[in-house]
Amino acid sequence: MSAPSRDELIALDKKYVWHPYTPMEAYLREGRPLVIERAQGARLFDVDGRSFIDGNASWWTSLLGHNHPRLVAALTTQAHKLCHTALAGMTHQPAVEFAERLVARAPVGLEHVFFSDNGSTAVEASIKLAIQYWYQRGRPEKTHFLSLEHAFHGDTLGVTALGGVEAFRKPFSALTMPTTHLPSPADDLDRAVTALRRELENGAARTCALVLEPLIQGAGGMRIYSPEYLKEARALTQRYDVLLIVDEVFTGYGRTGRFWAVDHAGISPDILATAKGLSGGLLPFAATLVNERVFQGFLGDSSRAFYYGHTFCGNPLGAAIAREVLAVYDEEDVLGQAAKSAAILAASFDRIGKLAGVSGARHLGMCGAATLSNDPSYLGELGRRVCQAALERGAYMRPLGNVVYLTPPLNTPESDLHELCRILEESVSEVLASEP
Ligand SMILES: *Cc1c(COP(=O)(O)O)cnc(C)c1O
Repeated sequence: MSAPSRDELIALDKKYVWHPYTPMEAYLREGRPLVIERAQGARLFDVDGRSFIDGNASWWTSLLGHNHPRLVAALTTQAHKLCHTALAGMTHQPAVEFAERLVARAPVGLEHVFFSDNGSTAVEASIKLAIQYWYQRGRPEKTHFLSLEHAFHGDTLGVTALGGVEAFRKPFSALTMPTTHLPSPADDLDRAVTALRRELENGAARTCALVLEPLIQGAGGMRIYSPEYLKEARALTQRYDVLLIVDEVFTGYGRTGRFWAVDHAGISPDILATAKGLSGGLLPFAATLVNERVFQGFLGDSSRAFYYGHTFCGNPLGAAIAREVLAVYDEEDVLGQAAKSAAILAASFDRIGKLAGVSGARHLGMCGAATLSNDPSYLGELGRRVCQAALERGAYMRPLGNVVYLTPPLNTPESDLHELCRILEESVSEVLASEP
């Protein structure tokens, strides 16, 4: 039987597949999806053999490039031994060893690892841990959350409350947990610190936790802010006895130049959520780390247990890959190479920032972003047009409204990175030149 053609696959896709974050009516009418067959390193290859540089590491996960041979080997070796077992009442070598090595890498004090399978559930577990922690400390009134305007923490109903992107939260606003969205330090550091201090002065007694994406608000538009805010947030939450949860789902594993974004500030949160790059983009896998204080809050009789756990949490395949991912970071000097590449990316975004019609460009580590106009709406069209122009030149990227950005694999070969930057610069120039 011959393989179905690209057009046959697209026809079936449009009949059956509901795509994420996709206005389906427009997609059914005019969508022209890439039909990807394989990937290697920083490149995706479609069924017609065309290659595209992966400008966003496939939704920010393939930080070591696609099909890294060591990760594929770890997956197949583990698959021949044990693909799945529950993590209740039993354990296994990959989960134990990965947890041990993750704690060794983690900010000081984070010493216990709770597994789940994606970024949303890693944050969802964080907030349920925080609520139950206060409940068991005799403070059941501490249920209010603080997060930032423009924040993104995932898509489950719980974490939707924390999100600061109006378009994602609006239909559910009648049902979401009580949350105050504070001014973002990406807009004005002093104002953000003042607002946080005032909020805690007045409301700490009812407040469960402050939840932050450290240094880069990713899905909200690659909004970068100063490590100063993290230091202030740590000091203030400690002073007012509120838990600090950091969501390193996007920023962790070296995206910002350090292994964790909080390393830039030298702080340690009470709870840290990590996913995406954790499993090198091979399988859904995630972890929530907690410090001793939070862990202790769950000891005692059985009523105090954390009754939570996803079927595939701590899955042996995911754990074996995650363990190998950490070994690759150590043995291939991933962060050292990323530091050199970050300079190439930085120079490119500095050039983009000077183009007429670009209202702001910024970069940190292996993340660069540019805002194409002052229209802040997520549903703007300019970003989409730039990404279409880039696709025609051989690079895959997705916009965040009128923000275009690059978050390629950290080990993207230098020649591919130069080409990716050139393609984005040309695409931005072309689209902005055609603007009235
Ligand atoms: C992507 C992301 C999530 C959600 O992760 P999923 O694996 O898509 O559920 C949560 N927080 C941040 C900061 C993210 O970037």
